[in-house]
Amino acid sequence: MTSLPHIEAAASLDAAFVDLDLTARLRLVEELGGRAVFTTSLGIEDQVITAAIGLAGLSIEVATLETGRLFKETVDLIAETEERFGIAIKRYRPAQDDIDAYAAKYGLNGFYESVEARHACCHVRKLVPLAKALEGASVWVTGLRRSQSGNRAATPFAEYDAERNLIKINPLADWSLDAIDAYVEREAVPVNPLHARGYPSIGCEPCTRAIKPGEPERAGRWWWENDEKRECGLHVPEAAIPSLNSSSL
Ligand code: SF4
Repeated sequence: MTSLPHIEAAASLDAAFVDLDLTARLRLVEELGGRAVFTTSLGIEDQVITAAIGLAGLSIEVATLETGRLFKETVDLIAETEERFGIAIKRYRPAQDDIDAYAAKYGLNGFYESVEARHACCHVRKLVPLAKALEGASVWVTGLRRSQSGNRAATPFAEYDAERNLIKINPLADWSLDAIDAYVEREAVPVNPLHARGYPSIGCEPCTRAIKPGEPERAGRWWWENDEKRECGLHVPEAAIPSLNSSSL
């Protein structure tokens, strides 16, 4: 598929999704043909999408980035989710050589020292494995929601991702956290026990803390950085993150 059909398909899906429920949105993705990959962090939004794919038996691949720094609760949830929905979740892991090179330059936990070092760690442990997961895919499904943060407030249902030359689908873009909770309850979806301990957004263990009442949902991610737009680079163009490139190791 060339970029023009991608652009047209993205615009068409973006308009069509407005009146559809989650399963119908994902069925439209399936009908596009080609390889569709859903990347899950095992967070509560992603668990809803995994459930919808599993319960409807959709041919959308489910993949996760096993960074090597995840909470034990998150790793355990991968197997539990596979069993609950009878699906296989493909694990993508960072290369040991890249981790060693990072540790030699910044130290294993060097991400606390500077934004550059943090972005370099996310590059090795997340972005490189993500690129592998999306190799040859024409569609990338994510669990982004507009109300997760100001940075995500304009998340469309579907858009053309020029950097990766694929269609990026956000079928939960208009969902509230209450709607997510209701789905989880109704479909008995297994969720990370950390959510009940004050972690609405869960990433790698050393970079995630519980939030206090009234704090934004993503305030516990990279909390030591004083930047409202902090992200790991998965959902912002690499060009927008100056230190995120192969020479950052
Ligand atoms: S979230 Fe933290 S540990 Fe995980 S890849 Fe990014 S900097 Fe590294």
